[in-house]
Amino acid sequence: MSAEMIDGKAVAAALRAELAEKVSAIKASGKRAPGLAVVLVGEDPASRVYVASKAKQTVEVGMLSIEHKLPVETSEADLLALVEKLNADATIDGILVQLPLPKHIDADKVLNAIVPEKDVDGFHPMNAGALATGGVGFIPCTPRGSMRLIKGVKKDLSGLNAVVVGRSNIVGKPMALLLLNENCTVTIAHSRTRNLAEVCRAADILVAAVGRPKLLGAEHVKPGAIVIDVGINRITDEATGKNKLVGDVDFEAAKAVAGYITPVPGGVGPMTIACLMENTLDSYLRATGC
Ligand code: NDP
Repeated sequence: MSAEMIDGKAVAAALRAELAEKVSAIKASGKRAPGLAVVLVGEDPASRVYVASKAKQTVEVGMLSIEHKLPVETSEADLLALVEKLNADATIDGILVQLPLPKHIDADKVLNAIVPEKDVDGFHPMNAGALATGGVGFIPCTPRGSMRLIKGVKKDLSGLNAVVVGRSNIVGKPMALLLLNENCTVTIAHSRTRNLAEVCRAADILVAAVGRPKLLGAEHVKPGAIVIDVGINRITDEATGKNKLVGDVDFEAAKAVAGYITPVPGGVGPMTIACLMENTLDSYLRATGC
C-alpha cells in the first residue's frame, strides 16, 4: 500500500483563488481593500524569504500589502511605537511581526502589543484564549491550514484518535485544540513522552510539529492514518552535498503505511500563507461589518 499524497500547494492555490474572488467583489463595490502589514526586523535570510513571499501573495489576492523592513539595531521602543501606529491605522486589518526578533527585543511584549482584532497570526493570548474557550478570534495560520488539509480528505473527524507531536503555542497546542473541537480524542506528545512510537501508532490522524528531521518513521504510523507533517528542517543531502528541506516524518517510510500524507515541501507550508490571507480577510469583514 502507498499513501495518497495531500497536495498542499494545490489546496493553497484554490484557497487563494477563492479569497481573490471575494476581495475583487469587495473592491468592485467601491470599498477599500483589506490590508496586511508585515514587519521584519533584521536580515535573517529565511525571514526575508518568508516576508517577500507573504507580500507577493497578499498583492496577488488583491489586498493592500505594507512592508516595514527595519534595521537589526531597531530598539524595542521603536518597534512598539510602529505596532501602535499600525494598530491605529484604519487601512490595516492584519499586523504580522516576523519571528524571530533580535535578542534585545522581547518578542512576547511586541506580539502582545498588537491589538487582538488585528493579530492575524493568532498568537495573542486573547486569541489563544478564544480558541481554547470557543470564542471568536484568530486561529494560528499553520494549524488552520493543517486542519483544512485534514478536512479535505475526511470531513467527519468525530471520535477519531488524533496525536499531535509537539506542544508549542504556535503549532502543537492550537492544533490539538482544533482537533478537539472536531470531536477527536486528542493526545499531545512531546520530548518527555514515553514510547512515542506506540503513542503515535494509535493515531488515525498524526500531526508532527517537532523540528527534528525524519523523527517519525513507519513504526510511528498506523496503517491508513492521515499524516500531516508540519516540520521544516534544512539538512545537507548526502548524495549531492546541497541543502534540502525535509519534514519531521520520514516521508518514504511513512508513505508505505499511511493512508494520506503531506510532503515537505509542498504540504503544510503553502497553507500557512494562504491562511494568513484568510485571517486578514476575516479581520477586514469583522472590522467593516460586511
Ligand atoms: P518548537 O521548537 O517550539 O516545539 C517543538 C516541540 O517538539 C516541543 O513541544 C518539543 O517538546 C517537541 N519535541 C522535541 N523533540 C522531541 C522528540 N524527540 N520527541 C517528541 N517531541 C519532541 O517548534 P514549533 O512548534 O515552532 O515548530 C515545529 C516544526 O514546525 C519546526 O520544524 C518548524 O520549522 C515547523 N513549522 C512549520 C511551519 C509551516 O508553515 N509549515 C510554521 C511553523 C513551524 P518539549 O515541549 O517537551 O520541549
